[in-house]
Amino acid sequence: MATKTKNFAFKGLPTRVVFGEGSFEEIASVVASLGCERVLAITTPEQAHLADRIEALLGEHLVGSFTEARMHTPLPVTERALARLKLVAADGLVSIGGGSTTGLGKALAVRTGIPHLAIPTTYAGSEMTDILGETTDAGKVTRRSEQIRPQAVIYDPRFTLSLPIGMSVVSGLNAMGHAVEALYAHDANPIISMMAEAGLKAIHESLPKIKLKPDDLEARTEALYGAWLCGACLGSVSMALHHKVCHVLGGSFDLPHAQTHAVILPHSTAYNAQAAPQAMNVIAAALGCSDAAAGLQDFARELGSPTTLKELGMPHSGIERATDEILSNSYPNPRPLERQAIMSMLADAWSGARISGPHP
Ligand code: NAD
Repeated sequence: MATKTKNFAFKGLPTRVVFGEGSFEEIASVVASLGCERVLAITTPEQAHLADRIEALLGEHLVGSFTEARMHTPLPVTERALARLKLVAADGLVSIGGGSTTGLGKALAVRTGIPHLAIPTTYAGSEMTDILGETTDAGKVTRRSEQIRPQAVIYDPRFTLSLPIGMSVVSGLNAMGHAVEALYAHDANPIISMMAEAGLKAIHESLPKIKLKPDDLEARTEALYGAWLCGACLGSVSMALHHKVCHVLGGSFDLPHAQTHAVILPHSTAYNAQAAPQAMNVIAAALGCSDAAAGLQDFARELGSPTTLKELGMPHSGIERATDEILSNSYPNPRPLERQAIMSMLADAWSGARISGPHP
């Protein structure tokens, strides 16, 4: 039976994307198209060498680099980067790295209004969103605005070849979480749902190949394509329970970002299974399995992903506090948030309980 198309709103995809092997070589023309002549490069300490790659192509248009980007965009780091940006009178930003580096680029762009070109090297998807999470003494605060969204993105899969297998796996599962939630978003639309389905398939096909052969450029290209699709989902429609849970666990228990997404995704999917049957069918079809949540769990296990909150350092005693935080200011979700059921879902994720069907 054909699926009835529901009413929807679609506002287009605002970011200019240049995708593919060798696309990094187009950096000078992309920077020029943004009207920038004095660029500041942003990296983490571990990826500081990438600033040299940028300099080789931008020459005198690269006026400085800031190589201290860190997870969760701590305010003191942003303030130091801002001082550097002003010192070198930069009129543009190029961030190259994972979600942490993109996050610092966004934090600087929203404070200065200067254009931001992001070059992602993980599958986190931050480069496609208008979302910025920043950490102060008061905790992690997230905000959305169009000034946060990078104007341009270069996806060159060669930069992902060095991403360690473990990080590749959890980062790919992190991307899948965006697509899963886009399929049952309250403001879903058919274009983004098509991207979600294609994103799930691309990551599902490529991660096992990357696990076998991390320097498989074709598989890396497919995974990065999937990451773009999934990132576009995150940046276009509203996320629900899965992202709320990961936000709480990352912000209040300091659990690592991508690993937490990887552990939670099968359990949050099981929680919503009965309330979002059409989304579950699409996920199961993309994964070639009969049950979406169990299929996601099997996939993560086969890839050797962490499967328990326990191994990520979450104390069992924290489940109650986490539940309280999940229930406060909750995001719209297909299934109402029920205290007992959320606690039992977190307990399952803590111990890595096997999923055999929808969560009760
Ligand atoms: P990350 O950016 O923290 O990177 C982890 C480590 O891997 C870093 O040391 C980094 O330098 C290194 N690394 C990255 N790419 C590499 C590569 N190709 N080769 C070798 N090393 C590499 O990890 P992440 O999971 O991409 O990002 C997590 C952060 O992004 C979190 O702070 C999260 O909140 C944020 N995020 C934000 C959004 C958003 O829309 N605002 C979306 C997703 C993630």
